[in-house]
Amino acid sequence: MALIDLHTHSTVSDGTETPEELVATAAAAGIGTLALTDHDTTGGWERAAAVLPAGMRLVRGAEFSCVSPTGRPETPGDRATVAVHLLGYLFDPRHPAIVEEQARLVAERVERLQKMARNVAADYPQLDAERIFDLVPAGTTPGRPHLGQALVRAGVVGSVNEAFADILRTGSKYYEPKTDTPVERAVQMIVDAGGVPVFAHPLARKRGRVIELSVLADLATIGLQGVEVDHPDHSPEDRATLRGVAQDLGLVATGSSDYHGTNKTTPIAAETTAPEALDALVDKGSGVPVLEG
Ligand code: AMP
Ligand code: FE
Ligand code: FE
Ligand code: ZN
Repeated sequence: MALIDLHTHSTVSDGTETPEELVATAAAAGIGTLALTDHDTTGGWERAAAVLPAGMRLVRGAEFSCVSPTGRPETPGDRATVAVHLLGYLFDPRHPAIVEEQARLVAERVERLQKMARNVAADYPQLDAERIFDLVPAGTTPGRPHLGQALVRAGVVGSVNEAFADILRTGSKYYEPKTDTPVERAVQMIVDAGGVPVFAHPLARKRGRVIELSVLADLATIGLQGVEVDHPDHSPEDRATLRGVAQDLGLVATGSSDYHGTNKTTPIAAETTAPEALDALVDKGSGVPVLEG
């Protein structure tokens, strides 16, 4: 019984295990198919592939930072938006639009994390804002969890999760926005690169406002192939709703842990994808193959 976990993070973004360690953790947990989906980078692909054990399959992917309308505008001036995440699987990592957009986002994330660190240090001088990148190895996509770790080390909070409850939460006085990719454009980019776009945790309400379901319907008409239904941040009611929506729209329903090592409390393979759902996604990808260990 080989488990399928299609959403995990390594130290190449905001996970706490290196790609090599992540593959070992996955193997020990009984995972037969693992997707590596670091935020806005494919930098961990080769490292994970190099240590893939016999019998394990690696689906190479990434989680794209996007911005979406909250729903269909009710009035002509209605432009409310929300930050969303789009998983892309099996796309060609050399596709120019993706290379360019990932480089832009990472550069923007560097500046934004530095700003947030300075904002926080104004109130918590225990934090050395100028050394925030000590925790972010070169080639890493920086994110708020790195600042959370720095706050743990400085003794300001007991855990990254606690840092997110107040200091790091979206909209806190320390928060700095970043300019994410319009989600329709990200879907198009992934499709153009031979990849398979899947909407990540669409109803993760504890992170703030979420999309209306009409957004999934609209994206399905331009190439969205799947939706993450079983995710640690989804309630049982929301999972049932999303399963119905996926069925109605002909989208593949996936399940995944969104594992981040010790930056989050969810263990790897806490949520999994059905084999038929994986097959349906793999059938649609042509940018790079699934790797067989
Ligand atoms: P950023 O991409 O820098 O805006 O940070 C968002 C990331 O923070 C998400 O990808 C999650 O990995 C992480 N995150 C969000 N909420 C929490 C939380 N409550 N505890 C730990 N990590 C979180
Ligand atoms: Fe993350
Ligand atoms: Fe996410
Ligand atoms: Zn994620």
